[in-house]
Amino acid sequence: MIIVMQLGATQEQVDAVAHVIKNLGHEPLVLPGEDRVAIGIPDSLGQDERIRFEAILSAMEGVSKVTQTSRPYKLASREFHPQSTTVRVRDVAIGPGTFTVFGGPCSVESYDQFLGAARMVQAAGAKVLRGGAFKPRTSPYSFQGLALEGLKIIKQVSDETGLVTVSEVMSGDMVSVVAEYVDILQIGARSMQNFPLLIEAGRSMKPIFLKRGPSATIDEFLLAAEYVLSQGNPNVILCERGVVPIDRSYTRNTLDLASVPVLKEYCQLPVVVDPSHGTGVAKYVQPMALASMVAGADGVMVEMHPDPREALSDGSQALTPKQFEALMDQIRGLAGYLELSL
Ligand code: PEP
Ligand code: MN
Repeated sequence: MIIVMQLGATQEQVDAVAHVIKNLGHEPLVLPGEDRVAIGIPDSLGQDERIRFEAILSAMEGVSKVTQTSRPYKLASREFHPQSTTVRVRDVAIGPGTFTVFGGPCSVESYDQFLGAARMVQAAGAKVLRGGAFKPRTSPYSFQGLALEGLKIIKQVSDETGLVTVSEVMSGDMVSVVAEYVDILQIGARSMQNFPLLIEAGRSMKPIFLKRGPSATIDEFLLAAEYVLSQGNPNVILCERGVVPIDRSYTRNTLDLASVPVLKEYCQLPVVVDPSHGTGVAKYVQPMALASMVAGADGVMVEMHPDPREALSDGSQALTPKQFEALMDQIRGLAGYLELSL
């Protein structure tokens, strides 16, 4: 429910409405707007409560109208947050007017491999370095990541290059450990509805890179973001990484690029597209990365590897350093046209 105040409503009138909401047992969320203030009630209200609250609040002085929110998510809704969020991590701003490239290998494999990849990512002009230390693999026999050793490599390489880093955390009890070593915590697609993990990640107050579940609807995706936001952590980046395809013979997932304008319309959070997992095929990454920019994404996450043939995971979708550099050149060109800073 959102209570929209009249143009020129006084601070006392706003305070009075907030006070009444508190007395009714709910936490008011004051939303300052361009020309008028609105006050939100993020909690879900039952039918009877809604009718009663509407009658009480719409009769108060300074209130223009009381509207029911149409979506199940609140803190992740533009109705509550009309202004787009910019997530700031050291010198990197992810949000409107910018386009951020997250580049790096699927997995951290060794210090040399990761430093090599980082130098190439940096030389090509990308700002954020990715690399998994804990890998969610379909088979328990596949490479599972270097775990703590991988985190230490990420930190060391970040210290040496100055690059902002992102890496996956797979369980709630590992959040504080991963948060010590990386700048942005990634929640993988398979973990999107691991609710204890979402809560711990929210509590860490670190920026969270939240990937869409392989079968998640937009509402489920935004409700997962809501779990993080409801811990008082506003710094969530949404990542579209493709959904379960009807045909796996050509691509690994179906990259849902239409989700970009949809997410941007209904939610204030930045949206980043991952065309690497979205297609699973290196040669399709470039066209989908450029299409993401045109669709309105705030960035892309692209897997690259110093030598994709040697990669311990996801080699078939990794760009070579040359391909990554060529993609960055095209992104720069398109960014100029779209008036986005890199
Ligand atoms: C990854 O980014 O390395 C990864 C495992 O992605 P996803 O969770 O989207 O499959
Ligand atoms: Mn991968």
